[in-house]
Parts: sequence; structure tokens; C-alpha cells
Amino acid sequence: MKVVYTPAHLQHDPHVEFETSTTHSPWEHIGRAEAIRETLEADSRFEFMAPTEWGTAPIEAVHNPGLVRFLSEGWSLYAAQNPGVREVVPDVFYRAALRDKMSEGREPTAIAGRVGYWCFETTTPLTEGTYVAARGAVDTALTTTQLVLDGASSAYGLCRPPGHHATSDLYGGYCFFNNAAIAAHHIATTTGTKVTILDVDYHHGNGTQQIFYDRDDVQYVSLHGDPARAYPYSVGFADETGTGRGLGSNINYPMPLRADDDAYTAALSDACEKIASFGASTLIVSLGLDTYITDPISDLAVTTDGMRRCGEIVRQLAMPTVVLQEGGYDVNALGANVQSWLVGLGA
Ligand SMILES: [Zn+2]
Repeated sequence: MKVVYTPAHLQHDPHVEFETSTTHSPWEHIGRAEAIRETLEADSRFEFMAPTEWGTAPIEAVHNPGLVRFLSEGWSLYAAQNPGVREVVPDVFYRAALRDKMSEGREPTAIAGRVGYWCFETTTPLTEGTYVAARGAVDTALTTTQLVLDGASSAYGLCRPPGHHATSDLYGGYCFFNNAAIAAHHIATTTGTKVTILDVDYHHGNGTQQIFYDRDDVQYVSLHGDPARAYPYSVGFADETGTGRGLGSNINYPMPLRADDDAYTAALSDACEKIASFGASTLIVSLGLDTYITDPISDLAVTTDGMRRCGEIVRQLAMPTVVLQEGGYDVNALGANVQSWLVGLGA
């Protein structure tokens, strides 16, 4: 199996995360992708290649161009006013209710206001090299997609930073650009065929759901910790099924606490029946390994062997499959879990 990887991700190197009302070392850090790279490089079933450059047009087809502009210049503008800053995090969030009964708001001009206009939470620091890394992750996703469009049965993009929490207008949840959504939109618009995104990250991919919520050409299917207890808390419920033309194309499986291999694979098998009946040409998997039993920020109980079983279930769909890396925070097990999932898929 081809693996697309770029060291550009090393440029997104936060040292601090503001979460659970404290600061700590970031859960999402460069060591995650490097652990996956080292494991797969040592396995002859995987063949590495670098991404090609795709520019900003595929990104701006999914995201507000204002978000792209902000991410490209935001850190530099903030640092110019705050010498010595390393991680940029909002102090003030733009909330629509601030302007209740007034005209619709617009992007602030002050850089401190712009950060909170484009970002929805505090765990996602913008650093000097974040934009370069985020562009590299999109290039990785699109290059992986091209391999599958060119005939590969499957390919894996080692995307970092991840993408599925980024909405059309907002970054957050360790995500800047929605790599899987950009890939899905690219396939749907360049081939005229339907696409399914299967999101198996522990956290609901609120960004991906939002981007495609009113569309019938991209199906979004997610298994995730129930938002009644899990980030992002406000999106990901079972009764969110799409709107307008997209009604029925959004399917959520909120999972109970400590769901194990058997419970998880049963839900995944059910999800795959719905994927098969949608009739997409291509499957994109948002592969998070934070469903793992000892993941430090999650509460399911899938094992490394369970990851293999998940890959095998998806393989039975016999669809051309683009696998893109999302979360997974037990770094000691992360490489083995990715490997196990991809071997199940047929690497
Ligand atoms: Zn996650």
C-alpha cells in the first residue's frame, strides 16, 4: 500500500495546549505522525511517497477564503504585536449572540479579534509553521486521493494536522483544513460521482458533517463517543440526518462508554450496510485511532486486534478506499494501531 507523507507537518509544533482549564503538553504533537511513519517504514507492505502540490483552489472550494487568508497570515500579524509569542490562542470568541438584534457581524480588523472570529475553541494553537503544515496535510490528502482515482484499490495519507473538526468557516479541535472534506469534494466535483466519508475517529467529525449536511452527493457516516459526554459536545447526535437534498445522507452512531471490539465492529458492520446502499464510487476513511482502549483522552475500548477487524469489515465493501489520518493519542500504540487497521484493509 502506498503511504503519502511529508515532513512539512513538523512545522506545526505547539508546546502548550490550553484544555480542561489548564495548560499542558499538547496531545496533538509531531511525535504522533513520526511514530506512525516509523512503524510503517519498517514494514515492507508499505511504500512511502511525497505529496505533490495542489494550491489553494481545492481548499477554497470547501472553506471560506477568509479562513485560508487568516491562517496564512494570522501568526505573523499576531507575533508582530506580541513579540516572543509562540502559540496563538484566542482570548475573545466571536459569537453570533453578541450582536443579537443588530446587523450581522463581520470579521474584526484587530488581529486579536480575528483569531477568535476564525477559531472555535482553545486547544488548537496557531504556531509559526502551522499554515505550511496544514497545506502539506491537504496536499497529502489530495495526492492519496489521486492514487485511488488512478486505480489503486486503497492508499493511506499520513495527514497531520488532522482535519475533521474544521468547518467551512472555523478551525479548532487540532484541525485547520478539513483534509477528508477537501478530498471528497474534489472527487465528487471532478468525477461527477458520489462519495462516502466513513469517520471512525473517537470524536465526531463536526466539520465534515457541517460541510456536507445539505448535500446528497457526499454521504457522511460517523462512529464516535456520544456527544452527551464527548467532544465536540454540541454536534454528533443520532437524530442529525441531513437537511434538504442531504436528508438521509448523514448517519451518526454515538457509541456508549467502554464499547469494546465486539460492540464497535457490530456498529461498523451496520454502518457498512448503509454505505453499500448509498452507492458511492469512492470511500474516504477518516482514520482516528483514539477509540483505542488506553487512549488518554477517550473512553472506548477497542484493541489493536479490533483495529484489524475494522479494516477487514471495510475491505468487504470492495470500494476504492482513501484512508486519511485523523486522531489517536496513545503514541506508544499509535503506529501499531494504524498498521493493524491498514493490514485488515488489505495492505
Ligand atoms: Zn479524535
